[in-house]
Amino acid sequence: MHQGNWKCGGCGAAITELPFEPRGDVGLMCKACFSKSRGPARNPSDNSGGNTGGDKPKHQGDWKCSGCSKAITELPFKPRETSNLLCLDCFKQSRAV
Ligand SMILES: [Zn+2]
Ligand SMILES: [Zn+2]
Repeated sequence: MHQGNWKCGGCGAAITELPFEPRGDVGLMCKACFSKSRGPARNPSDNSGGNTGGDKPKHQGDWKCSGCSKAITELPFKPRETSNLLCLDCFKQSRAV
């Protein structure tokens, strides 16, 4: 912490301590104004911001990879067709072009 005698450019409050050494006192902000300048705090329970992408449900099963014949016990989706399932490795390979 740097001790000093500065003035907040936002509310005019005295600033006596800063986490950094300022070059000048222009544009300095007290903690309250600084956090205000960062914008309104986001409300985590507000879903208007879009998808939070929580845990994807996994489907357990007993399938077989059509690529390498490895056993597949877990899939991120419920397969409709089990004859052409791919394990994660084969799936990645089929995607890699
Ligand atoms: Zn201030
Ligand atoms: Zn495979």
